[in-house]
Amino acid sequence: MSTTDAEPQVQGPLSDALTQLDSLIQHTFMVELPPDLRWDALLLTFTIAVGLFFVRTGHGSRGADGHERRVGLWQFLFPREIYTHVSARVDIWLWLLEQLLRPLWVVSLLATVGPGVETAAISALEQLFGATPALPVTLPWMLFYSFFALLCYDFVFFCIHYTMHRVPLFWSLHKIHHSAEVLTPLTRYREHFLVGPLWAGGAALAYGFSGGVFGYIFDGNITEATLLNISFFALLFGFNGAFRHYHVQFNYPKWLCQWLQSPAMHHVHHSYLPQHWDKNMAAITSIWDRLFGTLYIPEVDEYTPWGLGPESQAAQRTFLQNTLAPFKEWGQMLHQKRAPSKRQVRPDG
Ligand SMILES: [Zn+2]
Ligand SMILES: [Zn+2]
Repeated sequence: MSTTDAEPQVQGPLSDALTQLDSLIQHTFMVELPPDLRWDALLLTFTIAVGLFFVRTGHGSRGADGHERRVGLWQFLFPREIYTHVSARVDIWLWLLEQLLRPLWVVSLLATVGPGVETAAISALEQLFGATPALPVTLPWMLFYSFFALLCYDFVFFCIHYTMHRVPLFWSLHKIHHSAEVLTPLTRYREHFLVGPLWAGGAALAYGFSGGVFGYIFDGNITEATLLNISFFALLFGFNGAFRHYHVQFNYPKWLCQWLQSPAMHHVHHSYLPQHWDKNMAAITSIWDRLFGTLYIPEVDEYTPWGLGPESQAAQRTFLQNTLAPFKEWGQMLHQKRAPSKRQVRPDG
């Protein structure tokens, strides 16, 4: 990954900056933003799904209506009704748009917010505790750093997600993620194009903060600590993002759900049943949902119909409807009509 230590040569400031930017972009694409569509994460998803098929003798896979039913292996893995659904097609268009715009968010936000937060964290720590202790990078410290970064990321993810559910202005945007009537691994990217900067800014904040704290502790030798854990955590993020947007239920034992979000718990998050609204907001752990009272651990095969619900789904089905919806709703809000908050647009029972 490093582009600087192949040949020792003096670089001018501009080429040096370019190299840095290049490695930052690579780093960002490969590590900082969870790359759900890694082939190895998808392969792991499908392999575990095949295992679940045999363990549960064909049960555990949901149809487009959110009901669990017993089917053959191919239908279990790639049900026709899901992959030919209009919602799955809209996923593809929104994913393509996301891929197109992602470099903009990544370069503009991670290259500015990330280092800015990092520097601020380092100088705050220097003021509080004096000069860096410059600890040597050991394995336990590396693992601790990864764990800390993961918790920071998960917390920022939780805060952004919670805000998007609770504040009508943002719910108009995030509703596009929830207008998915079926779940496919691409649904992870199903967001309005204006939401990209929010997630990228959040990731920059979380990784900038954890990078700053550990940059201070290690006196800047953080690259070593990061590189060891790249593949493991990228795979973890990728797998988690892909499986939680896959129609096969992957449940963890209940005690583990108290600590980690099982993929099945995100099926609940996408359900339009009132008892499931605004639940399981974090990305990786259950810690923040537990602390803020939004944790919901479902029963195995609990019914989770996806989407916005029968009353409002028709207005938000196509790519164009989804792309224009927030502007329409904001227009309505501006005209003093009551804000279409989540509880008003969703059915009561
Ligand atoms: Zn949500
Ligand atoms: Zn989701």
